[in-house]
Amino acid sequence: MESHRSFTTICLRKTLIAPSVYELRFEKPAGFLFKPGQFVLFDVPLPEDANDVQPRAYSIASAPSEPDLLFVIKLVPNGRASRWIEKTLNRGTSIRIQGPFGAFTLDTETPEPYFFLATGTGIAPLRSQILWALKEYGDTRSMHLLFGVLKREDLFWEDEWKRLEQEHPNFHAHVSFLSGDRDWHGEGGSLQERLPRIVQVVPSSRVYICGAPVTVTELKEECLILGIPKVDIHSESYV
Ligand SMILES: Cc1cc2nc3c(=O)[nH]c(=O)nc-3n(C[C@H](O)[C@H](O)[C@H](O)COP(=O)(O)OP(=O)(O)OC[C@H]3O[C@@H](n4cnc5c(N)ncnc54)[C@H](O)[C@@H]3O)c2cc1C
Repeated sequence: MESHRSFTTICLRKTLIAPSVYELRFEKPAGFLFKPGQFVLFDVPLPEDANDVQPRAYSIASAPSEPDLLFVIKLVPNGRASRWIEKTLNRGTSIRIQGPFGAFTLDTETPEPYFFLATGTGIAPLRSQILWALKEYGDTRSMHLLFGVLKREDLFWEDEWKRLEQEHPNFHAHVSFLSGDRDWHGEGGSLQERLPRIVQVVPSSRVYICGAPVTVTELKEECLILGIPKVDIHSESYV
């Protein structure tokens, strides 16, 4: 059985970083320990009735050594948590979280390259994993991130990906815009088009995929077709 606890935390910052996408920063509660890739459950009250509470899962986007807990959340129409985040949650709001949970964590035992694949806010656990591997674990293996968003305005954390590339020659970020735009390397194409090219570069790799369930299933199937063994493909779906 996983050991997890319930914690109270305070919202430090709420920032709209892309259309319908909020970056939320919370105080890290004393004694809260987690592995990169794990998630927590937020206790989400109904905006109309604070006593009506339900849990919602959110991946931790910060690395364990960062001072705060970072989340990136996409609002969905009429969603409970979405309405709460938009209307009620603000800087200074106190909330309850439970966790951490999950086994979507990095395999550091083997030396194969890491290949990270995300769509939208599926980038959250991958940011934690990438920062931890590069900055805390000091991993020098080759790492490729393929991040898919609809169009340029949906991209976030671009400066951070560029900075990580400059600081860590073993890290490579590729962004795919469904709109057909090119990323800062001048590379274009959909996720499905880019995937084989990157797999050619890193044929034997540990793959970590996160995002909406349909996309995760499609990307897993693509990776299998491209010859990556099932055992090396790890995924988390935002069901
Ligand atoms: C492990 C895990 C990690 C996750 N991490 C993240 C993350 O980091 N970032 C992120 O953005 N998301 C994440 N998610 C998804 C997140 O948990 C929520 O599912 C998402 O935020 C929507 O929650 P909500 O309460 O706003 O919507 P919900 O209230 O759950 O509703 C979801 C959808 O269903 C519709 N709906 C609700 N009730 C009904 C009904 N009665 N009839 C018809 N339709 C209905 C709503 O209109 C809405 O479109 C994660 C999920 C999992 C499982």
